[in-house]
Amino acid sequence: MRGACFTRCNIDGDLVATAYGRTSGLCIDPVEKKPLNHFWPGNSVLSFGTVGCNLSCRFCQNWELSAARSLERLTSAADPDAIAISAFQRGCRAIAYTYNDPIVFPEYAIDTARAAHELGLLNIAVSAGYINPEPRIELFQHMDAANIDLKGIDERFYRRLTGSELGPVLDTLRYLAADPHTWLEVTNLVIPRYNDSDDDLHRLVDWVATELGPDIPLHFSAFHPDHKMMDVPRTPASTLLKARQTALDSGLHFVYTGNIADSTSSTTYCPQCNQSLVERSQYEITTYRLTPDGNCFTCATPIPGRWPVHPGTFGNHRAPVRV
Ligand code: SF4
Repeated sequence: MRGACFTRCNIDGDLVATAYGRTSGLCIDPVEKKPLNHFWPGNSVLSFGTVGCNLSCRFCQNWELSAARSLERLTSAADPDAIAISAFQRGCRAIAYTYNDPIVFPEYAIDTARAAHELGLLNIAVSAGYINPEPRIELFQHMDAANIDLKGIDERFYRRLTGSELGPVLDTLRYLAADPHTWLEVTNLVIPRYNDSDDDLHRLVDWVATELGPDIPLHFSAFHPDHKMMDVPRTPASTLLKARQTALDSGLHFVYTGNIADSTSSTTYCPQCNQSLVERSQYEITTYRLTPDGNCFTCATPIPGRWPVHPGTFGNHRAPVRV
């Protein structure tokens, strides 16, 4: 692991990551920002992370945290109970373990997730999914939803650009898709020249459709120049729209674009009658037409996801949080 890969003992004498009990910051976000479009839409989540990462993505958009070499970035002391109480008091529906990757702070994430569940809150992992089978079970059994990055479908891409391997990530995706407890959505960051060829896109969407099934939501997200890839241009909207169409043509039912403003490709449609059901403007729900049971209001087709009777009204803003 890069960054803060040190350990110490917690009060129970267990060996835990040094980051335990200290965050790099907390923020209230709309759940759509994770991104999750089929999990409690419109609700707010308390996001937090630490420092360090077990990958070293050259395109990392959180590199100031993931590649941090010192613990000085851990600015806020916050024990698990304090984080859960803070989320509860602010009306959040869930806590999101994000920014770097909860895989590198599992004890902290699990203890916080337990505290959150005791208060009736849900837990969301935002992760690259690069983890061994045993800790995979241990971490995700506490998570009610996960957004996993599938950064590409090529082993050389993973080795060259992320310093990791594709196989364990695919295993995590298969594991979560088969797990009825944890709701799964998948994100692919589309990077010009590196993973945006027709062949790359076809292979990726075919793998998702075949291995995970047509109902797993897939998000194509736009790259912007960052970290060690400042010389690569921003992803054009046309590339994301092409990727989305490729996925729809391959049989995926719920495909979205991210980091661009396009309401058509941010909308959830009924796969049976094509009725628009949840319309979004950026992270804001503008129209919600699911029945209270999560069915299409026109043809009654069940729409996979975890749907509230009424969507939340978070809107499009961010709020800093202190605990
Ligand atoms: S897995 Fe995510 S946080 Fe870690 S280096 Fe890659 S992009 Fe950054």
